[in-house]
Amino acid sequence: MNFEDSPEEARYRATVRAWIAANAPDLGVLGPAESRNWHPAHREIARRWQATKADAGYACLSWPREWGGAGRTAIEEAIFNQEELRAGLQFIYFITGLNVLLPALLAHNSDPQSLARIPPAVRGDEIWCQLFSEPSSGSDSAGIRSTARRDGDDWVINGQKVWNSGAQAADYGLLVVRTDPDLPKHKGLTVFWVDMKTPGIAVRPIRVMSGEAELNEVFLDAVRIPDTQRVGAVNGGWQVVISTLMNERAALGMGTGLSWRDIMALAARTPSFEGTVLDDPAFREWLADYYVNAEAIRLLSFRTLTSLSRGEVPGPASSAGKLLWSNKTQEMAAQALDIQGHFGLLDGAAEAVRDGAFQHRFLWAAGLRLGGGTDEIMKNIIAERVLGLPADIRVDKDVPFRDIPHGRSAH
Ligand SMILES: Cc1cc2nc3c(=O)[nH]c(=O)nc-3n(C[C@H](O)[C@H](O)[C@H](O)COP(=O)(O)OP(=O)(O)OC[C@H]3O[C@@H](n4cnc5c(N)ncnc54)[C@H](O)[C@@H]3O)c2cc1C
Repeated sequence: MNFEDSPEEARYRATVRAWIAANAPDLGVLGPAESRNWHPAHREIARRWQATKADAGYACLSWPREWGGAGRTAIEEAIFNQEELRAGLQFIYFITGLNVLLPALLAHNSDPQSLARIPPAVRGDEIWCQLFSEPSSGSDSAGIRSTARRDGDDWVINGQKVWNSGAQAADYGLLVVRTDPDLPKHKGLTVFWVDMKTPGIAVRPIRVMSGEAELNEVFLDAVRIPDTQRVGAVNGGWQVVISTLMNERAALGMGTGLSWRDIMALAARTPSFEGTVLDDPAFREWLADYYVNAEAIRLLSFRTLTSLSRGEVPGPASSAGKLLWSNKTQEMAAQALDIQGHFGLLDGAAEAVRDGAFQHRFLWAAGLRLGGGTDEIMKNIIAERVLGLPADIRVDKDVPFRDIPHGRSAH
């Protein structure tokens, strides 16, 4: 198979590269602390860049024009994304909304007021968060205990979500709740979108070991929303959840962040017994192995791209890209800290090597192996749905949800 650009794609790439070079924001104006995700200065640059792209027809390139897209092909969108990445423009704020959640809203809701939320998200004016996980529903994503009860034209929602990335700053969220506990667990779920300012929603940030507080608990106390905000059928939420999770794994598996080029550059500048670390045979062997894996991730992302270009939701194979990317990211960050020797222990942006970028990645990397589905869950998916191996025993599959024993009720 040939992964090179066709002549037409190469022309498009050259046009896009020139446009990005002429219009890219200058990230050099940000100090070390300001360069971190969710810092207001960083976020504002990201917002303006997204609006610049939207004005020029480069935001959500493959989406229909009526929703703020440009009606171009998924391949052209991928070329643009690759060029953006190459230019160091990797902003996380809009990925959840634009790559994971809003495709589900577009596919499963035809209410004009709901769809009116899409163009501002495409311009980067509004941020979305994913309100799926709960204290007893992470890997078991159908184990949702938050409830929605119908009340006339509205629904009243109660419960708790957790580990919601960016909820502290999000304008809207996509929420999955249980609407019928008498059905088996996958069958009684419904999805809604919510305005995060709706009365009854409280967001409490969780500080993690990298120092950031961009994961959150979200409490839902008698939150009232209209039925028009439903995404998909009543009790038909599982299909929506599955399509968003596949989108998420595909987006994660496309892999952003520090690359083999970054660690190669670090090694080339770091003195060792024989010249620099880059001259060390053991490091060179590791780097070659890492490069092979990085290429495997890149090629796996082409497979995802092929299904996107056919208008399909990425399949279970995208789990392989996510598994490999998150593990290799952690391995690379650990290797970078080893190379730095004693300096690896310094993680303050002011004094650490490269403003502490590798230290920060190291402290974040463990979370990458959990978010979007843990390593074990990715391996289960690959085993069962890609390789066709026998499935896990699932004793609760056909049992009404209310009859499934739960930690709290067992005591
Ligand atoms: C950085 C980060 C960002 C996140 N962002 C979001 C977000 O925006 N929105 C959101 O809703 N959630 C988010 N999450 C939550 C994430 O989806 C869950 O943490 C994840 O699904 C794991 O669930 P859990 O934490 O409840 O662990 P558990 O499900 O309790 O798992 C505990 C351990 O048991 C293992 N395990 C569980 N079941 C099985 C099984 N069947 N077979 C083998 N091993 C198993 C797991 O692999 C894990 O090692 C995020 C998490 C992280 C770390």
